Amino acid sequence: FGIDNTDFTVLAGLVLAVLLYVKRNSIKELLISDDGAITAVSSGNRDIAQVVTENNKNYLVLYASQTGTAEDYAKKFSKELVAKFNLNVMCADVENYDFESLNEVPVIVSIFISTYGEGDFPDGAVNFEDFICNAEAGSLSKLRYNMFGLGNSTYEFFNGAGKKAEKNLSAAGATRLGKLGEADDGAGTTDEDYMAWKDSILELLKDELHLDEQEAKFTSLFQYSVLDEITDYVSVGEPSLHYLPSNELNRNADGIQLGPFDLSQPFIAPIVKSRELFSSNDRNCIHSEFDLSGSNIKYSTGDHLAVWPSNPLEKVEQFLSIFNLDAKTIFDLKPLDPTVKVPFPTPTTVGAAIKHYLEITGPVSRQLFSSLIQFAPNADVKDKLTLLSKDKDQFAVEITSKYFNIADALHYLSDGVKWDTVPMQFLVESVPQMTPRYYSISSSSLSEKQTIHVTSIVENFPNPELPDAAPVVGVTTNLLRNIQLAQNNVKIDETNLPVQYDLNGPRNLFANFKLPVHVRRSNFRLPSNPSTPVIMIGPGTGVAPFRGFIRERVTFLELQKKGGNNVSLGKHLLFYGSRDTDDFLYQDEWPEYAKKLDGSFEMIVAHSRLPNSKKVYVQDKLKDCEDQVFEMINNGAFIYVCGDAKGMAKGVSTALVGILSRGKSITTDEATELIKMLKTSGRYQEDVW
Ligand code: FAD
Repeated sequence: FGIDNTDFTVLAGLVLAVLLYVKRNSIKELLISDDGAITAVSSGNRDIAQVVTENNKNYLVLYASQTGTAEDYAKKFSKELVAKFNLNVMCADVENYDFESLNEVPVIVSIFISTYGEGDFPDGAVNFEDFICNAEAGSLSKLRYNMFGLGNSTYEFFNGAGKKAEKNLSAAGATRLGKLGEADDGAGTTDEDYMAWKDSILELLKDELHLDEQEAKFTSLFQYSVLDEITDYVSVGEPSLHYLPSNELNRNADGIQLGPFDLSQPFIAPIVKSRELFSSNDRNCIHSEFDLSGSNIKYSTGDHLAVWPSNPLEKVEQFLSIFNLDAKTIFDLKPLDPTVKVPFPTPTTVGAAIKHYLEITGPVSRQLFSSLIQFAPNADVKDKLTLLSKDKDQFAVEITSKYFNIADALHYLSDGVKWDTVPMQFLVESVPQMTPRYYSISSSSLSEKQTIHVTSIVENFPNPELPDAAPVVGVTTNLLRNIQLAQNNVKIDETNLPVQYDLNGPRNLFANFKLPVHVRRSNFRLPSNPSTPVIMIGPGTGVAPFRGFIRERVTFLELQKKGGNNVSLGKHLLFYGSRDTDDFLYQDEWPEYAKKLDGSFEMIVAHSRLPNSKKVYVQDKLKDCEDQVFEMINNGAFIYVCGDAKGMAKGVSTALVGILSRGKSITTDEATELIKMLKTSGRYQEDVW
């Protein structure tokens, strides 16, 4: 063809240009990879069928996760398919793909889906929900799938997202293999629900795909390498790569981190004030104020603050010790295929990974036991581990009821013999990732624009089965407690704090009482018309958002008065409950608010453990005020419930059904329907956990 050098250069340039265009998404992603740890090795292609085919995957696991639980179970399931059947599994967040080609996916698909709010899909699943809910009949006739929903039966729309997805997939002609799994966090059985569903699905897949089961063998998704020095590129626990010294681009001229701040990058917020709201026998409650100045973060009254914790030093030491790990080892992880993502910033140190990125203190799962069998330090331990991993009742008696975390459980099983053959990759891939904890904001964005208040009860109780063991502690609330004590110069010892933290954080990032946070928007909102009556029910820390609501109304009224406007507020009735009088939250503030709200605010208090008195709960007080409550609902009141999802929210709902059925002379079923309608229309809102 007689191509000369110039032609060749032009042709090569054209080919390169075409290649660059075709691969523009992948290249763009690599170039703008602003959180290298999480996105550096993403394929960039969003076509689900193409990605599965191009990467020769023979099984697909999808997850739609709000707080990380669905993701965690999806990953566990994927790992088991690899370990037992040597399948080439792709495990993916639905947020990262488009689904127009779902019917062309040539493999079976498992879908893990969490329900959030009022039966909603997780935030990241908008596209996925949109696609399957609008899929035409018969358009997914080639799709074979199974599904595991994660929900909470104390909510009205239990596993609503999973059920909706399942209904729509079925209407589009997809074939479900096996039963729909339904985890119930409300009953505390998520782990066992998963195990039962998973066992039945694996049996079914064995037949369907003619799989041979092998003794579970861990195959890592990553190439692991050890580095020898800490450079500016190595994370020592920074919450995202943006905070590494090497990442100058993400700071403005004053050295302040640039947003936006969200789940992929928190803001490091100073806690400008914290105080103990009460301290009674075994319980404390902490009020913390986070300063958002300079972050450009906006919140609305009723939103949630996510606080990113790190693990207590004692628990980190305990974990390092049982696995015989050296905290100083610096390691890197490179995904072995482009569909896999590294779950946290790397390279990092073993100590940082354990302190900041892994959930090491919570209850241990039976699933983890079965995958640890291959690493048992001797035959006796292996037998014991095998037995416990198969016997759910024995596991409950020997492990769960003793509140063992991973290190406690392994120490107990091996009698202190180290588990030193467990690879670091196994721990990264099998131990759940540390997740932020959410708090209902107790300030008002109208009265304090730059500051977020949080009200937290410190989780710390003696181990009921093992009185001599360390107390059972919550990670975040004890960290907030540690900060409150240190900030107020209170001497810290084991009587006021059972665990200690590194308050300075990685490279002193958290020094002077700072913590990583982000705001999550909620639907928990006061009615826009201030004359609408409002009924609030929030015992314990459930009162947090109502303090925000009332502060909002106080400031609103003050502003209106200043502007010469004469507005009249609707009745704001708050039902609050505490055990005694000494744990009455913000006791001194409420009378002030009542004064400022000119009689439109009233508070009714129930105490459940007053000496020599019968137990009274908010539900009882609702019944005592039946006529007033009924009249308010009849006059269009909005109802808000916040706090304990297990007992209280259900009890309140039942009490309101009774009030409506008597008030309107209708049956309980009719009143229940009415409450459902109030919920659907946003006139009955719950913020329960
Ligand atoms: P975690 O470390 O998460 O531990 C949770 C519980 O498990 C603790 O009771 C702990 O003692 C126990 N535990 C620890 N180890 C083990 C073990 N090995 N075995 C068994 N149990 C163990 N809380 C508030 O106080 N105020 C609020 O305003 C508030 N608002 C919320 C709003 C929302 C939307 C949600 C979802 C939750 C809210 N919470 C609130 C709860 C809060 O998010 C945390 O769950 C709570 O503070 C505990 O966090 P933690 O990190 O201290 O405990």
